[in-house]
Amino acid sequence: MASVPLELADRFGRVARDLRVSLTDRCNLRCTYCMPAAGLEWIPTEQSLDDAEVIRLVGIGVEKLGIRSVRFTGGEPLLRRSLEDIVAATTRLRTDEGRAPATAITTNALGLDKRAAGLAAAGLDRINVSLDSTDRAAFAELTRRDRLGDVLAGIDAALEAGLSPVKVNSVVMPGVNEDSACDLVRFCLDRGLQLRFIEQMPLGPRGEWTREGMVTARDLLDRLAREFTLRPAAEPRGSAPAALWDVTDASGRSGKVGIIASVTHPFCGACDRTRLTTDGAVRSCLFSAAAEEVSLRDMMRAGASDDELAEAWAAAMWNKKPGHGIDDVGFLQPERTMSEIGG
Ligand code: SAM
Ligand code: SF4
Repeated sequence: MASVPLELADRFGRVARDLRVSLTDRCNLRCTYCMPAAGLEWIPTEQSLDDAEVIRLVGIGVEKLGIRSVRFTGGEPLLRRSLEDIVAATTRLRTDEGRAPATAITTNALGLDKRAAGLAAAGLDRINVSLDSTDRAAFAELTRRDRLGDVLAGIDAALEAGLSPVKVNSVVMPGVNEDSACDLVRFCLDRGLQLRFIEQMPLGPRGEWTREGMVTARDLLDRLAREFTLRPAAEPRGSAPAALWDVTDASGRSGKVGIIASVTHPFCGACDRTRLTTDGAVRSCLFSAAAEEVSLRDMMRAGASDDELAEAWAAAMWNKKPGHGIDDVGFLQPERTMSEIGG
């Protein structure tokens, strides 16, 4: 009898097709919503997946478990010198539909001016750049580094390399970059960048997030409505986390802005993600507890076969919770930060 192909299904009927891989927990910025000023206790190199281990696990995900898109993130994925090789190896894989998986990175764009052409040549399909403000002072306050110029050079290089659409991710923090949100919209409309605002989630330095203190999607839409005409976009949303809005400015120029209301309007019911941490653990959700992780790295290093790894990955996903539970009374912030998990 032919065996039934494995896929990353859970008990609530969702199937994961999108893999996020954290290639390093380290970073050259210190965004206040993500890391403390002093950085974190970094995962030692020998505990992190090496290139061959990353490529092996991505291969199992794509060729045995139905993954169709792979996003490399971190920490800062450009800090991994072999990123181009990892992308190239990923594009040589074939999905259950017989295609190369879609590849993407999420990056702060520092150094992207020198890497964008090479990444495009390696077969990278898409790029998301994090940019919270085009105001130099607000950018420096938020990231604790005065590097706005490098990010802008990186975005230009990505556009030049044809890595389009370039998406821009922006987290709005109260009292820091709220006032520059409309300027960011104009900056992105000017350059044909797809801007998505993300609600701040409780995944950064402990004790710094409060539900009352965060800028909600509603607050942001109210602010944008002062300078733009906003209409919900006609496109169906599918499993995409961003609700799209058509924005038009006073001169009639228009484009789209996405709002990712991860906290106030969770989209867990349509989530199609699975994640690999820097040190090779499967997480079914950004908000999973450490006890729910399964270390594929430990299994690999103990000699597990591809089939054994695939089965362990599928079993970990089967137990995915129905939602992140941020609003539940007993909610606990995960032990891991966004940079280890891979945002
Ligand atoms: N260093 C890369 C970057 O910044 O794009 C990739 C890793 S970063 C953790 C991935 C995304 O997570 C970024 O867009 C960042 O803005 C977002 N992020 C980090 N901490 C967050 C938080 N507490 N809430 C919401 N988004 C967060
Ligand atoms: Fe670094 Fe990205 Fe975290 Fe900012 S959000 S500190 S760029 S990992």
